[in-house]
Amino acid sequence: MIKGIGPKTEALFAKLHIETVEDLISYYPVHYDEYLPPEPIGNAVVGAKCAVEGRIARGVFRKVTGRKTVISTEIDDPTGRIRLIWFNAPYIAGMLKKGSVFIFRGIVRRRQDGLVMEHPEIFTLYAYDQKIKTLNPVYSLTKGLTNNAVMKAVKGAFELAGPVPEYLPEAVRERLGLTGEEEASRKIHFPADREEYLAARRRLAFDEMFLFILAMRTLRKRLGEDKNEFPMKLTWDTEEMISALPFALTHAQERTWQEIEADLTGSTRMARLVQGDVGSGKTILAFLAMQMTAANGYQSALMAPTEVLARQHYEKLCRLAEDLHLENLHPVLLTGSLRASEKRAALAAIADGSANAVIGTHALIEERVAYRDLALVITDEQHRFGVCQREALAKKGAPPHMMVMSATPIPRTLGIIWYGDLSVSLVDELPGNRLPIKNCVVGPSYRPAAMRFIKKEAEAGHQAYVICPMIEEAEGLEAENVFTAAARIRKELSDLTVGILHGRMKPAEKDKVMEAFRDGEITVLVSTTVVEVGVDVPNATVMLVENAERFGLAQLHQLRGRVGRGSAQSYCIFLAGQESESITKRMEILNRSNDGFEIAEKDFELRGPGDLMGIRQSGDAVFRLADPASDREIVKAAGELAAFYMAEDPMLAGQELAPVRKRLDRYLSESAKTITL
Ligand code: ADP
Ligand code: MG
Repeated sequence: MIKGIGPKTEALFAKLHIETVEDLISYYPVHYDEYLPPEPIGNAVVGAKCAVEGRIARGVFRKVTGRKTVISTEIDDPTGRIRLIWFNAPYIAGMLKKGSVFIFRGIVRRRQDGLVMEHPEIFTLYAYDQKIKTLNPVYSLTKGLTNNAVMKAVKGAFELAGPVPEYLPEAVRERLGLTGEEEASRKIHFPADREEYLAARRRLAFDEMFLFILAMRTLRKRLGEDKNEFPMKLTWDTEEMISALPFALTHAQERTWQEIEADLTGSTRMARLVQGDVGSGKTILAFLAMQMTAANGYQSALMAPTEVLARQHYEKLCRLAEDLHLENLHPVLLTGSLRASEKRAALAAIADGSANAVIGTHALIEERVAYRDLALVITDEQHRFGVCQREALAKKGAPPHMMVMSATPIPRTLGIIWYGDLSVSLVDELPGNRLPIKNCVVGPSYRPAAMRFIKKEAEAGHQAYVICPMIEEAEGLEAENVFTAAARIRKELSDLTVGILHGRMKPAEKDKVMEAFRDGEITVLVSTTVVEVGVDVPNATVMLVENAERFGLAQLHQLRGRVGRGSAQSYCIFLAGQESESITKRMEILNRSNDGFEIAEKDFELRGPGDLMGIRQSGDAVFRLADPASDREIVKAAGELAAFYMAEDPMLAGQELAPVRKRLDRYLSESAKTITL
């Protein structure tokens, strides 16, 4: 029991899926509030938090309106003036005297009569000097839980947790410039300054990458034997399917399909990565492979990272099977939220082979799922899966063919480190019926116009996404959150149905919302980045991204891929929370390019690792700190170290690598537990 956590707080933590000491320790801050040196008032950026040193230029005014007491005054320095306002904080008045100098820190807003700062923190010059460059962790919260309460609980968790033995030899750490793991896991919560934060992040990101790569590589080794245990014949079914589709395959799709056919009919087991930008049409390739497998008398499984996506794939495949009269294909859905009776029926059909195209989430690989003849496993957006899931799946019989579909733009050289010796197909062409998405990058003052635009599109029968970086408010972080935004939109666009989607909802709830959105019952979907992965609602034509500056460009690009999927013109509005040139410049890249690879490269150049602007989404990825697109140096170092160890001792069985082996085992058991999809 952690000191100071009563049953009430415990229930609040449970809402955040925090139940153990380890959960708390790995509940990383989503952001850091950094105390930067004071700026001249004239440099203050509207919408941003800043500290200014100013002389109180006027008396302190006090006004009572209704139940509110408003204290206001004005400060100046040689470069400008700014008004300060506090609500219901009468004690402030006693602290401020005309002529005295303080540091004030808060968010700058523009009003008709000039700049104001609401509720600034107040510091003496000396006190602020002590604070400069420090970072305060900012946690994702839920109503009733304060940032301080989380900080305290995390501190308490560290007191209870036992020591973590270091698994990397000192020499390796020194060569790679890595701090100790234990130190890093503390400092990621409580860094003294930016350097400490970067060092902690670097170490933890390295571990994430290293253990992931090691797990992938040892898995390949353990699966060994690359013989094709499920040789297939080319079949007419797939040819007929292709010609009956409502569209013609793109050249890239055709080429990839031929590569897949060659694998399945060849003498070695398929291990292929199908990489293609969002909207390039990877799903149909998976369906073709499933059809070919069925026609050859085997079973296939398609694993998606979320229930929403699994259900969507399932329904699509069912529709396709019906429309195109695919008599050999018998799809079945298996997810965690099926009713017990449905699950029993699905399991029975999988066991006796009457279902031969199984679609689902990680439920597909639970112990009790027995396949009759599993020949092909496809994972969609697989990097979000724990490695051991793949291993578990591979254990259910002779090693099946593996096909991995991903939209993550990973440069080729990295892909090799990443996926080991997978063959790669690039689906590097978008279907031709698409109109390019129209993008704009705007400031907060554009929001009313954006709302009118969404209304207009809705009246034309279309739908819209509104993406926010946070689920709920966080202290010390100025960023739009799903709840507040949804409430506001419900008020402003009162005749539209507004739905909410975020990562803390139960899978069944998420499904319901996503289905309602797909069926047009919800017009505006306010969501976090959970919609980023693969969801396909062609009728949605607007995407409004709040605080777009808080996202990485690669992520924004993924998000943007949710629109522009139908034949109607689509629009993407990137709303930057503050008006600043560097932000606009970064976002301009998105404006200019529709190429995921190029965007990831440019983003890396501009942002660099350990950027503090971004907000991490908690809990929905294998990598919580590392970002494969921007942490290339770390991926490379981790890949090299993994390769080095495995060259010496392929199964990591020797005495010397025992600590690494032990750490890897812990990683595998943790990733099985933490990846709740
Ligand atoms: P992703 O590669 O992002 O998974 P999807 O497979 O979801 O993309 O495809 C996006 C949309 O494009 C779907 O609605 C799909 O039916 C459609 N599509 C796929 N291939 C083609 C094509 N060759 N021509 C036209 N539309 C296509
Ligand atoms: Mg997809």
